[in-house]
Amino acid sequence: MPHNFLSAMSRRSFLATGTATAGLTLLHPFSANAAAGQAHLRIMETTDLHVHVFPYDYYSDRPIDTVGLARTASIVEEIRAEATNSMLLDNGDLIQGNPMGDYIAYERGMKDGDLHPIVEAMNVVGFDAATIGNHEFNYGLDFLLKSTAGADFPWVLSNIATKQGAAPRDDTTLYKPYVILDRTLTDGSGQEYQIKVGIIGFTPPQVMNWDRRHLEGNVQARDIVETARAWVPEIKEAGADIIIALSHSGIGPDAHTDGMENASVPLAAVDGIDAIMTGHHHLVFPGPKYETTAAVDPEAGTLHGKPATMGGFWGSHLGLIDLMLETDGGAWKVVSFESSTRPISQRNEDRSITALVESQGDVLAAVQQEHDETLAYVRRAVGKTAAPLHSYFALVADDPSVQIVSQAQKWYIGEMLAGTEHEGLPILSAAAPFKAGGRGGPEYYTDVPVGDVAIKNVADLYLYPNTVRAVKVSGAQLKDWLERSAGMFNQIEPGKADQVLLNPDFPSYNFDVIDGVSYQIDLSQPSKFTAKGEPLNPGASRIKDLMFNGQPVTPDMEFVIATNNYRASGGGDFPGAKGDTIIFEAPDTNRDVIVRYIVEQGTIDPKADANWSFAELPGTSVLFDTGPKAADYIDSVKGMAITPAGDGPEGFARFRIEM
Ligand code: MN
Ligand code: MG
Repeated sequence: MPHNFLSAMSRRSFLATGTATAGLTLLHPFSANAAAGQAHLRIMETTDLHVHVFPYDYYSDRPIDTVGLARTASIVEEIRAEATNSMLLDNGDLIQGNPMGDYIAYERGMKDGDLHPIVEAMNVVGFDAATIGNHEFNYGLDFLLKSTAGADFPWVLSNIATKQGAAPRDDTTLYKPYVILDRTLTDGSGQEYQIKVGIIGFTPPQVMNWDRRHLEGNVQARDIVETARAWVPEIKEAGADIIIALSHSGIGPDAHTDGMENASVPLAAVDGIDAIMTGHHHLVFPGPKYETTAAVDPEAGTLHGKPATMGGFWGSHLGLIDLMLETDGGAWKVVSFESSTRPISQRNEDRSITALVESQGDVLAAVQQEHDETLAYVRRAVGKTAAPLHSYFALVADDPSVQIVSQAQKWYIGEMLAGTEHEGLPILSAAAPFKAGGRGGPEYYTDVPVGDVAIKNVADLYLYPNTVRAVKVSGAQLKDWLERSAGMFNQIEPGKADQVLLNPDFPSYNFDVIDGVSYQIDLSQPSKFTAKGEPLNPGASRIKDLMFNGQPVTPDMEFVIATNNYRASGGGDFPGAKGDTIIFEAPDTNRDVIVRYIVEQGTIDPKADANWSFAELPGTSVLFDTGPKAADYIDSVKGMAITPAGDGPEGFARFRIEM
């Protein structure tokens, strides 16, 4: 029987399913070749599921083939059938990260005895153990403990304590630091053995900053590697034959530094750990996204020569570690291994996506009700807007669709920097219009009327799954950031009529508007930078009257700018945003921050405050093309004379601006 490795508490219908398909499935070579006294143990990992059970994108309100535990579950069935012994583990970040998670946390709640839908689905799939990711703390400890209470499998987390002692092993941990699972292992001759599998879990200690409002005074965090060095010997002493680390932490630097966020590499070096399940980065390992280092082999899938895996995110992949174990009559040890991953979908050459498996029906059925309720939730108002949220004029005037993003980013970074060394620095925010016509066509604009705002509108406001970053820049860098943005526009000759305003080679997502300062853009001057951000006219200056709090910005002033990971790490090649100015890397997506901002504010009022405008050029006019629906909003654009000027190409409408 291939499935005797399942935990005693997971007697489930998939036993029958797995057995039925086993005849059609090729055994893994470790299972096929194991001799007497040798056994193949396959360890599967899901990670960063973020409440994705259905293959569905709730933000855009349509099915997608790249996500969903219901799909991953179908591969689990295949993979179990290929191995004599297998286990399934989850690496955390599971109760937060999509609208279903928000719906349960903000709307339905978790009463005693309620099952969280992701846990309900995991119970159906049959997990052996799981750890706690950083996002598990987003909704507070009470919600977390109620959410994990309904699991048919144990949770492990060693580096978060409700009461810290002198050393890690003196801590009163929030969850069990580790478990030892007693399992029946079948060797190559069919002989059964009892073995003990130790499983220990870790989460980034940065949760103390990221969820300060929930955690401060309630729990304390320890360094991942320090904690592992303390507990792993105890797991060995307690009789574990093998030890698996569930590291909700990325594959980062080789060298250990105290309190590091992405600690999986030095963790792997800890004596006694046999295999490392990683995550948090939302990447695939083994795989080409990681570079070879002295300790990391991204082709073989090893960290310090030990097997490691990372199974993507949102159920996109299953991480796999195959161990060949051997016994000397007493203990079992690992004699060879393989690391790999298996995807649920593939991207074709024409960029289309093909699903590689169907959803497993019983997993869908388990959370069908919550799925239906989430659909209703994303389609229903979660807040109100007192101003229309549209992007028709986002490239020519301060704009509500950009304003709301900056309001939410400033609010969030203000909370995150409170109590840090950066508290008190002025917080500005950079945001660019994402949906602003262009190649997307004349309907490709954000357009949410006054009144109700639904979750699905937020995807419209913030198109990309970026995460929030804060950078610290000088007044000089701030000005150059704006000079870089101002490359959006052609140079305009004063006194001439109907000149083309926008540079067609300049993508709108690189037109950063910075909120929190005021400035004018003088288009009679040449651009300082090319459309790609290369220096063009080093002495040029289009940005005029740059003011903060009524005072001119001087080159030596200091500012924090809230932005996203793309910009902060060098995307668009912006001065002051080349990766070396980052002071805060948020775990949250800009989209989640906007949703949270709207939910907490109730009513938002993202009226553009006209903090930037074009400098006056008397007797000069320019033309620009935007969506035809822009005509409804002409009057709401402050301080600017805009009139219709006929049709543009391909369904666009043309407007004239008197400078
Ligand atoms: Mn995650
Ligand atoms: Mg994470």
